[in-house]
Amino acid sequence: MSRKPVIAGNWKMFKTVSEALTFVRGIRQATVGLGYAEVVLCPPFTALALMSEGLRGSGISLGAQDVFWEDKGAFTGEISPVMLKDAGCSYVIVGHSERRQYFRETDEKVNRKVKAVLGHGLTPIMCVGETLDEREAGVTEKIVRAQTTAGLAGLAPEQVAGMVIAYEPVWAIGTGRTASDEDAQSVIAYIRDIVREQCGETAAGNVRILYGGSVKPENTAGLMSKRDIDGALVGGASLEVKSFTEIIKRTSETRR
Ligand code: PEP
Repeated sequence: MSRKPVIAGNWKMFKTVSEALTFVRGIRQATVGLGYAEVVLCPPFTALALMSEGLRGSGISLGAQDVFWEDKGAFTGEISPVMLKDAGCSYVIVGHSERRQYFRETDEKVNRKVKAVLGHGLTPIMCVGETLDEREAGVTEKIVRAQTTAGLAGLAPEQVAGMVIAYEPVWAIGTGRTASDEDAQSVIAYIRDIVREQCGETAAGNVRILYGGSVKPENTAGLMSKRDIDGALVGGASLEVKSFTEIIKRTSETRR
C-alpha cells in the first residue's frame, strides 16, 4: 500500500501576517522540484486568507490549527469549518495536545470537530498521544486506543480512509526529546490496528498516520524509513524555511 507522505507545519501562536508572507515567499522558492511529499502549512487564523493567495499554484496546502463544530452562530471567538474553507484551508488540526491540555478539549469534542471538518469536505489531522506520566505508567496503548476510538466514533470507513491521524507523544512536543524510530513505528502500527478493528482493512490501509514531537532534519530519515509512518506534524522546525524544507526533502528522498 503506498500512501503519499504528508509533512504538516504547525506554527502554533507564532508569526504575524507579514512574517507569514515572508515565509511563503521563501518556501515557494526552496521547495521547487521537491514535489513528492504533500506539504501543509497551519498558521494562526489571522494569516490564513492572505497565505492562501500567496500559496496559489505552489502545490502547498493550507490548514488551520483548530475549529468549532457549528457552521455559524453566537459563539464568540470561534471559527467554523465554513469559514476555514472560505479562507482557503483544506486541512484542520483537531485535538492537538495543547488544546486538550490548556483548553479542556475532550475526546467527545474532538469527535464533533472531526465530523464537522469532514462534513465540509476538509481533511482533519486528528492528534492523539500519551503524556510522560502515562508512558511511564505503561498505559500508552490504552490512552491512544481511547483517544483514537472516541475520535473516530460514528465515522464511515470511507471518511476515515481519507483522514490524517498524528501520533504525538506529549512528552516529545517542543522538548527536543523524540520517540525512537522503533517506538514511534510501534505505536503508529498499533493505531493502524485500532483503525482496522473499528473501520476495516481499506480504512486502515489508506489512513495516513504521522509522527509528531521534536521532528528535525536530523531525525527525519530514520522516522520516515519506518513502514507505518506516513509523514510528520512539525512544530518548532516548521517556523524556519531552511529546516522545514530540509524535512520535506529528506522525507521525499526516503519515501520515494
Ligand atoms: C506540534 O506542535 O505538533 C509539535 C510536534 O511540535 P514540535 O515539533 O515543536 O515538538
